[in-house]
Amino acid sequence: MAINPPDNAVNPDTQELEDDVLDPSGRSAYAKLKFKPGAEYPKFTLNGKTCYNAASCFYLSRKQGLSSAKIDDTLLSYLDTCKREITMEIPLRKDDGTLMPIQAYRVQHNNARGPFKGGLRFHEDVNLAEIREMANIMTWKCALVDIPFGGAKGGAAVNPKKLSTHELRRLTKALVAHLGDNIGPHIDVPAPDVNTNPQIMAWIYDEFAKSHSDAPLAVVTGKPLELGGSQGRLEATGRGVAIVLREACKHLKVDIAKQRVAIQGFGNVGYFAASILRREYGSKIVGISNETGAIYNEKGIDVEDLYQYSLANRGDFSGYKGGKAIPRDELLTCDCDVLIPAALSNCVTREVAKHSNAKILVEAANGPTTGAGNEVLYKNNVFVIPSLLANAGGVVASYFEWVQNLQQFYWSREKVIEELEKRMVTAFWDVVNLSVEKKICTRQAAYHIALERVATAAILRGF
Ligand code: NAD
Repeated sequence: MAINPPDNAVNPDTQELEDDVLDPSGRSAYAKLKFKPGAEYPKFTLNGKTCYNAASCFYLSRKQGLSSAKIDDTLLSYLDTCKREITMEIPLRKDDGTLMPIQAYRVQHNNARGPFKGGLRFHEDVNLAEIREMANIMTWKCALVDIPFGGAKGGAAVNPKKLSTHELRRLTKALVAHLGDNIGPHIDVPAPDVNTNPQIMAWIYDEFAKSHSDAPLAVVTGKPLELGGSQGRLEATGRGVAIVLREACKHLKVDIAKQRVAIQGFGNVGYFAASILRREYGSKIVGISNETGAIYNEKGIDVEDLYQYSLANRGDFSGYKGGKAIPRDELLTCDCDVLIPAALSNCVTREVAKHSNAKILVEAANGPTTGAGNEVLYKNNVFVIPSLLANAGGVVASYFEWVQNLQQFYWSREKVIEELEKRMVTAFWDVVNLSVEKKICTRQAAYHIALERVATAAILRGF
């Protein structure tokens, strides 16, 4: 049977991969490779040596004879498809009495290994394609760090900054009511994401608890400490980033204290990563950017001082004296040993990859590297810690919060950090060992491990 390449996919046999061809969800054409039942995928081969997502990982693994026989095309098609997609129209009663309809989504990708798990975001650009893509990624992330969850994601297409606190609370509670029994401690467990926070998680818990008495605290993670939240959760993603970089330095036999690090983004992930790398591992943070600009200091930036400065100036870096102001996007190609994109997707393009002199790239943001960028990094021998692994610390700590809620037994911050260390270190070496053994890029190794784990669970369950 002759099979055409998936719609819109770039055929790398005839065309060089373009990294800046973005679809409305912001993903590159490479990311559109999808499995369809019955498709004979080995006929559609990739030129590249690196993979971009779960689908392209499978192409490569199969081409290289690494894919296990148990994962056939039908199973792959199933694993690539979302199990349930809920589209809701939420009628929000505004403070002025008018009615505002808001589109909202919850996509549950796969639960072969445990309840669905994933963030809930409030942003006016939220759309089904983006939510689907991120639900898919969550499945592989949870499997890679070996926590008993599947993948999900949700969102409401609204700018929360345009809502009053009362409106935001009403919207959140209406969303929970619409979701009904589709969420729950053993069904689907949301968490904070873009523009959602511990307060919103507390409202989710409260609304859910009105109609569910079985361990309702465990319905959502990222709650305030005073209401079932976990010690160490806030810093967990940044700490995970620092841990995997420390392990990468061991692997590459370089001293972490001698690394000059540049970080794009100074929010939750970027700030904690910078702070922990500086304070606990002695790395020199030479560059930091945020939406407003970038600071470079070859002698090292005082991270806490810049943080206090930006807090006092509504996040604005301008006028900061502890380093040289550089154009914001130059941060990505500044002189450094380690680059940590911790803000945006698709920012490490082919051009950025060509001009960066970093030897290590830690993908703290979700999907910061385009397919073509990834090829250049591979060619240039840059050690990439893929986002699947690098930013998994947050969901690992969410898992600990869920466990504590179910047991009603709360851990110290030290215990959370110790357990986070174990998960992140194990996952890091799983990826590196496979990548070295099979001579594949680290991203392919990460997806490969995750795919095998989810496929095994699906088969054991009788798929
Ligand atoms: P955040 O909103 O706290 O911070 C984002 C930072 O990026 C801010 O400092 C903002 O000013 C900066 N920024 C925005 N546009 C920029 C630009 N063009 N150039 C430079 N900086 C820019 O968000 P966060 O929670 O730190 O998340 C950052 C990334 O990490 C996102 O991709 C997110 O999806 C991913 N992530 C976060 C978590 C988590 O637990 N917070 C977990 C997994 C993945």
